Amino acid sequence: MKFKKFGNKWVVRIDKGEEVIQTIKKICEDNKIKLSSLSGIGAANRVTVGLFNTKSKQYQSRELIGDYEITNLSGNISTMNGEIYLHLHIGLSDSKYNAYGGHLTSAIISGTGEIIIEEIDGEIERGFNKEVGLNLLFK
Ligand code: FE
Repeated sequence: MKFKKFGNKWVVRIDKGEEVIQTIKKICEDNKIKLSSLSGIGAANRVTVGLFNTKSKQYQSRELIGDYEITNLSGNISTMNGEIYLHLHIGLSDSKYNAYGGHLTSAIISGTGEIIIEEIDGEIERGFNKEVGLNLLFK
């Protein structure tokens, strides 16, 4: 991974074999980025996407293995119990240009990942909401 800061924006390159969430989390922890929006593109070959079932309040997930373009990676960074918390969604396309997507659990970069983190000067803590079953922004 490589990154450079310009103003309140961080330009990040994630390299082949690196996992997206772990890599971004490490950058945020090392540089005390506690609140931000994020967007990116790239290529990945092992991705776990999820869907939150609002009735059961559980995530169902699926692992996608093969060549995928990351057509869009977007989300935000906040904190929960003082720890960096990433909430990312991903869009992918395969060799037949079919699209897949969902809540991102894990993605291994196969080519490169190009991410822009836009830092916000502040901090927002998440809290678990029992009624929804999710960790919501603003405790
Ligand atoms: Fe989500």
